[in-house]
Amino acid sequence: SEEMLHQSDKLSAVGQLAAGIAHEIRNPLTSLKGFLQLIESQSKGNKEYFDIMKAEFARIEQILTELLILSKPQSMIKETKSLSKLLEEIIALLETQAIMKNIEIQKMFEREDIDIICTEYQIKQVFVNFIKNAIEAMDEGGIITVELMVEGSYAVVRVRDEGNGIPAKVLERLGEPFFTTKENGTGLGLMVSYKIIEEHNGAIDVNSSEGMGTTFIVRLPLAM
Ligand code: ADP
Ligand code: MG
Repeated sequence: SEEMLHQSDKLSAVGQLAAGIAHEIRNPLTSLKGFLQLIESQSKGNKEYFDIMKAEFARIEQILTELLILSKPQSMIKETKSLSKLLEEIIALLETQAIMKNIEIQKMFEREDIDIICTEYQIKQVFVNFIKNAIEAMDEGGIITVELMVEGSYAVVRVRDEGNGIPAKVLERLGEPFFTTKENGTGLGLMVSYKIIEEHNGAIDVNSSEGMGTTFIVRLPLAM
């Protein structure tokens, strides 16, 4: 429809800007990395400094990768997709990561046939971000629950963790670009997620209590 075309135009404009910036940074970065390797191979200097520099390069690359998530032009088309199938696929993907931290991911799907109209890889990215954050918030193991149900004309997904919770000071800054409390975080996951859900005419809510855990609630219009 016209409305959907408009939505994807807007998103691709954002995507093109992100891709443009990421590429501009990537080229000089590649050159710098090459010279760093050259100097390292000729140097008898402190290996520790080279390791720090390489780790910082890896961090910049991670940020660029997350920026490029918004800029894949080939898959901007919106299609009717089964939300339960999509969630199953990403849970399977993240399960090994969870098991390594003694975490179980539980699925609670009210029905299998809950369809939404979406750009599949983007919606997948959103739930990857939420589940990854949940895993990262749980240092003592536990259960992550992914709940799927219908409420009115919306599909509702709740991602609940038993992690450390989010303090009020952090809560009010969620979704701000580059805002992170993690040593190796990028602070882009939630910003990208909020943007994608907004582009799909959905909404995100969060409930959290410190020490108890966090629930992210995503509402997306059902396909009619
Ligand atoms: P990153 O994961 O790279 O830090 P995000 O945008 O994904 O960036 O998250 C931003 C911040 O929000 C995190 O650094 C963390 O402080 C907080 N956060 C997000 N999800 C959770 C969660 N499930 N439990 C606790 N804190 C969270
Ligand atoms: Mg994250």
